Amino acid sequence: MAYTILRGGRVLDIAAGTAEPADILVEDDTIREVGSPGCPTPADAVEYDAARRLLHPGLVNAHTHGHGNLAKGMGDRWSLELLLSAAPWITGNRSAEDKYLSTQLGAVEMVIKGCTACYDLAFEWPLPTAEGLALAGKAYADVGMRAVIAPMVADRSFYEAIPGLMDALPRPLQDKVAELRLPPSEATLAAIRDALRGWSFDRDRVRPAVAPTIPHHCSDAFICGCADLAREFGLGVHSHVAESKVQAVTGIRLYGGTQTAHLDSLGVLGPHFTVAHGVWLDNEDMARLGDHGASVAHNPGSNMRLGSGLADTRAMLERRVNLGIGTDGANCADNQNMYEAMRLASFVSKVQGPDWRRWLTTREAALAATEGSARALGLGDRIGRLAPGYKADIVMLDLDHPNWLPFNDPVNQLVHTEDGTAVASVMIGGRLILDNRRLLTVDLARLRDRVEAARERLAAANADNRRLYEALEPVVGSYCPGLARAPYHIHRYGARPE
Ligand SMILES: [Zn+2]
Repeated sequence: MAYTILRGGRVLDIAAGTAEPADILVEDDTIREVGSPGCPTPADAVEYDAARRLLHPGLVNAHTHGHGNLAKGMGDRWSLELLLSAAPWITGNRSAEDKYLSTQLGAVEMVIKGCTACYDLAFEWPLPTAEGLALAGKAYADVGMRAVIAPMVADRSFYEAIPGLMDALPRPLQDKVAELRLPPSEATLAAIRDALRGWSFDRDRVRPAVAPTIPHHCSDAFICGCADLAREFGLGVHSHVAESKVQAVTGIRLYGGTQTAHLDSLGVLGPHFTVAHGVWLDNEDMARLGDHGASVAHNPGSNMRLGSGLADTRAMLERRVNLGIGTDGANCADNQNMYEAMRLASFVSKVQGPDWRRWLTTREAALAATEGSARALGLGDRIGRLAPGYKADIVMLDLDHPNWLPFNDPVNQLVHTEDGTAVASVMIGGRLILDNRRLLTVDLARLRDRVEAARERLAAANADNRRLYEALEPVVGSYCPGLARAPYHIHRYGARPE
């Protein structure tokens, strides 16, 4: 047994809204006791000075993309559909080194910004590989961060998935995007099975899941194949549902109902299921998700950056949907700052109407970014709280930082004031990862050199893909908004045929 005692800090209880002075005793990777200051400890306990620190449960990022980190800042005015069109440019030609680096870069950013676990929907072209997923897993393990890694998969390309889009493209572009066709579903499902069988990481630290990326980018048989794998291996399922208006309209065109109703009819909803975004969910969709005990990963930054809209988190909570909060990938966020995501979650709820009683409270936003996200990751009984029996995933904020002067209210300031700059130390699973702003697990100078070399190589390798995007942009950028306009009447929180 190894014991650590964090002495002299104030321990945040989000639900109670308090931050009382307390010491935390950690045994191996688990919190044993949250005791009164100076409480007795085993003789061999290592003492860690947490004086003038606010200790809060590590934030949990319910939705990100490890592959997105090398693509941060590559675009500006991108709708979701333009982002998908840009994928070959910003994510193409990735080597094993790039896959590792991109994920590690994001893990480093998350940890130094107070996030200790994430749900990563990892993409590999043209299909996931056991090696690629192992590299992503190694990237998190090397940083010392907890992660759920879900291969993000489909059996239809974006151009096949959006009704009429292929026909709207001029012939030469049709030929080009035909090359983006995906392998048959059997090949992709076999690749996932292969990766799952060989999974070598401790599942409490780095566990797999499955992510049929967007419902209409997948045949029904493929979605069911993913769900079957998840059942067989006891995994979560994560999908981008009702993210953009184009998606909502496409779902109705294809299924005659919403994407969520369709997924329900396929039998894939349940407590293990996470909807990413859910901007265009209607009340019935939310009720279905709530009844199934499913989660929504709310990504307010990405939803605004891509013009997807403002998700109605109050309506979700009213229907017992488990609410988590995420940043989304750095290719559309463009950072991995969970404090910002919490703050935006609060603000987005507040711009939706004058009835302040429907606004999210800071307590609700903070609970969503900890306990709610933890439940979405399938780790609700292990992370997201500072309490005996929970994993020692603990962030220590510097109470001498201007963010905390004066110290008026711990939860309001955590959500509305903190931006990551007061993060002093971070412990994950009882292991110190960041010690008074010094990252202990990764050589940042070496990471910088490798990342810049990758950027240069990828810019050259994807020059043609960039030109392809520039040719596609005017067509996709006018066709998709048109599709979203007519002939459907879009209600405030959903889409219905007129
Ligand atoms: Zn996403």
